[in-house]
Amino acid sequence: MPTSLADLVRDKLDAGTLPHESPVKMWAGNGRGAPCTACDEPILRAQVEYEPQYDGRAPIRLHVGCHGLWQAERRRRGYLLDD
Ligand SMILES: [Zn+2]
Repeated sequence: MPTSLADLVRDKLDAGTLPHESPVKMWAGNGRGAPCTACDEPILRAQVEYEPQYDGRAPIRLHVGCHGLWQAERRRRGYLLDD
């Protein structure tokens, strides 16, 4: 059974590759061909790249869809509080 993208995001949250904490800042821009932290596929120039900023953490880049899954999983776990 293939691993879904949501499973990947959950695994990376468990492993600490993706943080639970909210970023200090969130940047968004066009992709530069660098791999997505969640799915490891390149974020192409025609796609939007989300870059959550943290102090003292390796850069994180996410596709729009991967970012949505990360947000949803953090919300499910109680780390993301709606204001
Ligand atoms: Zn991705």
